[in-house]
Amino acid sequence: MPSPAKKRKNNAPESSPQRMRSIESFFRGQATKRAKTAANPAEPVSESKQEVLTDEELARKLQAEWDREDRAAASSAQPAESAHQAEQLKSSTPLPAPVNDVRAKSEAVRTKETLSLQSSIGSEDTIVSSIPFDQSPLTFEPSKYVDELQRHWASDGGDATYALLTRGQGLKTLYDKHGDAGDVAFEAKKRQSFTLKRPKPLTIKGVYQSLMKIAKSKGPGSQESKQRIVEKLLQDSRGAEESRYIVRILVQNLRIGAVKTTMLIALARAFLFSKPKGAEFTVRSPQELSRLKKEELADVYSKAEEIVKASYARHPNYDDLVPCLLEIGVTEELLVRCGLTLHVPLRPMLGSITRDLSDMLTKLQGRDFACEYKYDGQRAQVHCDEKGKVSIFSRHLELMTDKYPDLVSLVPAIRGESVSSFILEGEVVAVDPDSGELKSFQILTNRAKKNVELGSIKVNVCLFAFDLMYLNGEPLLDRPFRERRELLRSLFTEIPNRFTWVKSLDATSADSDAVLEFFKGATEAKCEGIMVKVLDNVAKSEPDKSVGISYEREEMEQEVLESEQNGQDGLQSIKSEPKEKVSRRKPLLATYEPDKRLESWLKVKKDYSTSSDTLDLIPIGAWHGQGRKAKWWSPILMAVRNPETGVLEAVTKCMSGFTDKFYQANKEKYSEGGENVISRPSYVEYAGEPDVWFEPQEVWEMAFADITLSPTYTAAIGLVSDERGLSLRFPRFLRVREDKSIDEASTSDDLAALWRKQVERSKMEEVHQVADEDEKLGWQED
Ligand code: ATP
Repeated sequence: MPSPAKKRKNNAPESSPQRMRSIESFFRGQATKRAKTAANPAEPVSESKQEVLTDEELARKLQAEWDREDRAAASSAQPAESAHQAEQLKSSTPLPAPVNDVRAKSEAVRTKETLSLQSSIGSEDTIVSSIPFDQSPLTFEPSKYVDELQRHWASDGGDATYALLTRGQGLKTLYDKHGDAGDVAFEAKKRQSFTLKRPKPLTIKGVYQSLMKIAKSKGPGSQESKQRIVEKLLQDSRGAEESRYIVRILVQNLRIGAVKTTMLIALARAFLFSKPKGAEFTVRSPQELSRLKKEELADVYSKAEEIVKASYARHPNYDDLVPCLLEIGVTEELLVRCGLTLHVPLRPMLGSITRDLSDMLTKLQGRDFACEYKYDGQRAQVHCDEKGKVSIFSRHLELMTDKYPDLVSLVPAIRGESVSSFILEGEVVAVDPDSGELKSFQILTNRAKKNVELGSIKVNVCLFAFDLMYLNGEPLLDRPFRERRELLRSLFTEIPNRFTWVKSLDATSADSDAVLEFFKGATEAKCEGIMVKVLDNVAKSEPDKSVGISYEREEMEQEVLESEQNGQDGLQSIKSEPKEKVSRRKPLLATYEPDKRLESWLKVKKDYSTSSDTLDLIPIGAWHGQGRKAKWWSPILMAVRNPETGVLEAVTKCMSGFTDKFYQANKEKYSEGGENVISRPSYVEYAGEPDVWFEPQEVWEMAFADITLSPTYTAAIGLVSDERGLSLRFPRFLRVREDKSIDEASTSDDLAALWRKQVERSKMEEVHQVADEDEKLGWQED
């Protein structure tokens, strides 16, 4: 199923066949044009040249046209035309003195339209650019700037200008650091731009309203009206900076590294430090917070962030979240006021990958868990209110009620008498309606995406329910899985081959044979493997023996630091010196944790059982091949994504696992001068310079020998070591993940987690080795 990100990408002009020009070519072009114009300024610009006019050429051309028109108007003195022009003028700029005669009006029009090369920088811009947005909130004093800004805005209706959003120093610093050629070119263009008249400043509210109009317009003629709104926004934007962000907002990629997490953290901090006039909640003053110790401050921040993130995970809608924050600030109450709500999809809980069954059994040692078939279909969240209204949402929160009218029609029958409202979750799978035999995911994709008619359904489906998150007006997220599952199975009614429970087996790590049988059964039934879920929370008095959540980050960093201080490679020293250490593990929770990928849900896939861990990486660049591979790209630079910053972090160069056919197709796809080869992107982190940069657009699954701490690659830097990133040894291409968009590629956190796992594995091996040796020694001594 394409994710929204995938769709976004498909629609985004950025992904359209348009190659980013190199900065050199930009300046070369401009310089040639300037030279020509300077040589003969009066030269009329030909039609064919019009497409490539510089701003200056356009300005001169318009000026020449207007002069010609004025001369013609003056000689024929057409009253009607002049009156019309005067009318136009009246509606836009009131004249300072009464102008009665037509001639004077015509003169005034000419004066108004005479090209003036105005600078688009005003005094407000000076104030905005002097605001130190990059300063710590502990020292930043907004009150210094607010009054002055508000005075400026008052003359234009009082709304904050859009310029405020587009000129903070922080963004500038970021551009300077990353030096995106496209952005630099844009900067250069900005300096050359001339405006015919100073447009009324765009306001944040105005831009927002225009975007809403675009989002809401539909039906015949909507294409044109959307286009007009965009044109107007671009016309009205003052200078390149504003138009840059207008365009980026429209293509839904701001390229400033601000992702969902950044937004939520920013909101949490904003409401820690400030509140609107009249709001009754308490905020902490910067002075008070700056007196706290570093760890105490981090704690204050993270508590607030957790609340905002939890609220968003349960109710992902900024239109509801922000008004709530304005009213009550960051308090636990936010989870009640802006929490789980019928017909608003919550972000699903996700499962972590495991290497194989024994890895899973080791992780869940000492815990009761449920093994469930991992069906190969489409995840569905079904909401039903007391009135019987049903909404169905996808894994990516898209509304798909129209796609499954057959499931909607089942609701009255599956909902037991005592159920008034609910949110349940399950996997929709294509099935044979008579035998119930499972069909492949490919069959399911043949179903239309919307407006499916009940009478004309050819792809029959069954919903295999696995969780219940809300019942009769109450969220169940905090209840353990065993209880939620019990409610689901006792209060709802199965309908053979249409609505039923996922096949499951309750077990513990001692039941390895039964679990293996169950796993085999799942794969034979064409399932992808099994999902394993912790059934109960650990009682407070009991220690959690499971090793699900391995190292705490600080602990890991400490180990690396210690080993590095000893002058050793972090990984090597950990391998050779297993330490006796009680790690602070968080117990695995059996609660439903929206938007979290915890180890209380584990995925064991059939393709994992033979191979070891793999990563889903994004190809971002390449070098010219050598020898036999000279006509292709090889090696290819691969990256993980950092969801916190939006940056793609290079992690390895891959040159094995590719067939010649694949190499050929790859070279055609990323041909030099083609649409998929771009100039160095600002959102990539890599110290080197490949021969070409790819427009990131696909995900490749990679196998590898192991993960190493690297002095060159910065992927996951700060997660296991402050100085070094992580890299892969002997990476090998396995396959293209057609089903994943780049937003679903492995993250730096995944990489760090695999590294920790590797360290832990080598420690275990070490322990076993020592035990084996002890045993041998004991035997010899005997
Ligand atoms: P994820 O959805 O975890 O981000 P992914 O897209 O790679 O990762 P998979 O690794 O295939 O997906 O596994 C997770 C998906 O498996 C779930 O999102 C859900 O759609 C599906 N699934 C099938 N059976 C179950 C089950 N019994 N419990 C939970 N999920 C299930």
